[in-house]
Amino acid sequence: MEKLSNPQKTIEVIKKHGFDFQKKFGQNFLIDEHVLDKIIAAAGITKEDFVLEIGPGIGTMTQRLAEAACEVAAVEIDRKLIPILQETLAEYDNVTIINMDVLKLDIAGLAREKNGGLPIKVVANLPYYITTPIIMSLFESGVPLLSVTVMIQKEVALRMQARPGTKDYGALSLAVQYYAEPYLAANVPQNCFIPRPNVGSAVIRLTRYAKPPVRVKDEKLMFRLIRASFGQRRKTLLNGLKNSPELTYSREDILDALVRAGLPENVRGETLTLEQFAALADVFADMQP
Ligand code: SAM
Repeated sequence: MEKLSNPQKTIEVIKKHGFDFQKKFGQNFLIDEHVLDKIIAAAGITKEDFVLEIGPGIGTMTQRLAEAACEVAAVEIDRKLIPILQETLAEYDNVTIINMDVLKLDIAGLAREKNGGLPIKVVANLPYYITTPIIMSLFESGVPLLSVTVMIQKEVALRMQARPGTKDYGALSLAVQYYAEPYLAANVPQNCFIPRPNVGSAVIRLTRYAKPPVRVKDEKLMFRLIRASFGQRRKTLLNGLKNSPELTYSREDILDALVRAGLPENVRGETLTLEQFAALADVFADMQP
């Protein structure tokens, strides 16, 4: 079959099946071969790989993945796309199409069943309305992962890879960087999609760490501190922690913890590294009765 990344071919397939784009599913289909090349290259797909594709649409990227990988599972929520995928992917015997909401899929179970529990690669042009829940659930649910290479909203990609003290740095940067090393592979303009999204896009690869880069006694407590310190921008860390609905420490406890973690009283959360948040969380963990 002719490549689906050809815009005429995409339009032909859509018309033939009378498909209507669903805004609620974040449907912006890729129509640029060079962008596909960049995604496949950034993901480093080889014939050894089992790939999970989230949201295959009409199968544009799935075709490329099927050619490059050993096996592909493509999970698509929109049942109207399933007959289209069955047609556009008919010549590939290494693709499984799953009609489901990816947030409800047991991905660890799929990796066990299809890849003997070995780590998988995730590749996707993600639906932007659920980018963060998808990525965080992949990391937090213990799915065996090598990497996640995804097209996402550019602004979100910049936040994921931001370093301390920069304007994009926040809770998302720390959450992602606790689990993975980010690499921004490409910026993608709006005209590479049908229909055009209202925002710029970027391809980011998140390479999963075998072990987190910092050790912390209570991971959940560290993330509560992180959320609290970015809950109120431009406030001191002391005020952020004191006013958080998730924490119950007194001003004295917080001041004591800051001193013990070697941080100044007026420090702002947005300047703290992951290592400093981990150290602070360890001080608070020791304080608990
Ligand atoms: N991969 C195709 C491409 O690049 O042309 C389509 C990408 S489009 C940005 C996002 C796709 O994700 C759509 O096909 C949409 O129906 C699908 N999708 C949206 N929400 C989903 C969910 N919760 N689970 C699985 N697929 C979803």
